[in-house]
Formats: sequence, structure tokens, C-alpha cells
Amino acid sequence: MSHIARLFTPEPLVEGQEISLPADQTRYLTRVMRLEAGAIVRVFNGQDGEWRCELAGTPKSAVLIPQQQVRPQHSGPDLTLLFAPIKKARTDFIVEKATELGVRTIQPVFTDYCQTNRVRIDRFESLAIEASEQTERMDVPNIYEARALPKVLSEWDAHHPLIFCDESAQAAPLANYSKQLHEKPAGVLIGPEGGFSPKEREMLQSLDFVMPITLGPRILRAETAVVSALTLWQSLVGDWQKSPYLPES
Ligand code: SAH
Repeated sequence: MSHIARLFTPEPLVEGQEISLPADQTRYLTRVMRLEAGAIVRVFNGQDGEWRCELAGTPKSAVLIPQQQVRPQHSGPDLTLLFAPIKKARTDFIVEKATELGVRTIQPVFTDYCQTNRVRIDRFESLAIEASEQTERMDVPNIYEARALPKVLSEWDAHHPLIFCDESAQAAPLANYSKQLHEKPAGVLIGPEGGFSPKEREMLQSLDFVMPITLGPRILRAETAVVSALTLWQSLVGDWQKSPYLPES
């Protein structure tokens, strides 16, 4: 991988248009990476592609000057992860891994057996930014406010399949649905450690856009189920036939 630092900015990337960096990014570049004025940094904002920027300003108040676009903007497939928040460290893991595995949107959902009813969306956002920087993505996943499962289901676009990972019923493997899933935005739904309640399961089973699937004969922890289901979808109908982008070092 390239040794050139890579950063996300919410600012527009336009040739010569200076970007002032917040304190944490300044600290990262000047103290952690020990970069000095004149160093090159790769920068993306989820809209304008990736840019080669020059570091300028002072070690306490750094700026970046975009020089040249080095990669056009690109987004991965339209995949949403819906998951029930679990314990903090495991939830952090889910957000980080979902970002690495290329989801476009993360929707936390509160369910009947949820282990927590509070989530820190700002924390999810910074985890997703960090994982996107590291993973060579050109965008950062959208992180939606946590909402109750029935509300999320009632607003779901019925043209988009929702893959319901269901450990407690006879469900088909994902591969059986490859035709229905081909080139369609989709969602993957994973429950909390306690699984879904009978009421929730009934509601899910009544919806035409919901596809119940199995992840095999073993009961997985929620965070393992997230990684497995996203991997399966990406390899079946996502973008896993492509190789990573390797920037010049
Ligand atoms: N009902 C459970 C386990 C829940 S596991 C119990 O309390 O024992 C947490 C979530 O991971 C489930 O809600 C489901 O979405 C997913 N999951 C785990 N293992 C799975 C499997 N083998 N097939 C499909 N989904 C699975």
C-alpha cells in the first residue's frame, strides 16, 4: 500500500482552493505522520474524486492545497446494512468492518431484544471515516440515525430486496436468490445477540421484499453474521470481481 497519507475532508476539492484542516487532522499529519510543509497527501471528499494535495501552513494550523485529481469519483454498489446495536466494542467492530466491506449506508435499528437503546452516531461517523481512509474507498458510508425496526420496514423501498439473516427457521442460502438480487440495491438485516422476537419475525415474514436466508448451520455472533452476510453478497452480486486500487508509492 502507498505510504502517502490519505484523508477525508468534507470540503470541496478544487485545484488551488486551500482547505484549512481541523486540529485532529493537523495533529495526525504533522505529529503522527511527521509531515512537513510541501509533503503530498491524498484527499477525497466522496464527491470530487481523489486529489493529490500539498501540505502547507504551520504545524499548528495546517492547510492542504489541491493540486491534481488522481482518481475520478467512484461509488461501490448500493448496499445497506441494517443492524441492531450490541455492546459498544462489538458495535464499533460492525461499523468498521461494514465500511471496509463496502456498504453504502449503515442503518442502526432498535429491535425488541436490543441490548442498548442509545447509539453515538458521531462515533460511528468517525469510525467510518477512518476505515474509509484506510481502505481506499472514494466515499464514506451514509450513517443514518438509529430507528425502530417497524419504522425502517415501513419506509423501505419495496423494490429493493431486504436480506433477512434468520438463524431460527428453514431459510435458503443467499446463492438461491442471485437472480432476484442481480444489479439491485439491497439491504442486509442482522439481529442482536438475542435474535428477533416472534412478533418481529412474523412482521418480517409478511413482507414481500424480505428474503430470509441462512448463514449456515452454526449460530454466529451478530458481528460475525454481519461480516459473513456482507461478504456473501459482495461475492455473489457485488463488486468483488474487481481488484484493489494500488496507488503509486
Ligand atoms: N437467536 C439467537 C442468536 C442470535 S445471533 C440466540 O439468542 O441464540 C444474532 C444475529 O445474527 C441473528 O439475529 C441473525 O440475524 C444472525 N445470524 C447468526 N447466525 C445465523 C445463521 N446461521 N443464519 C442466519 N443468520 C444468523
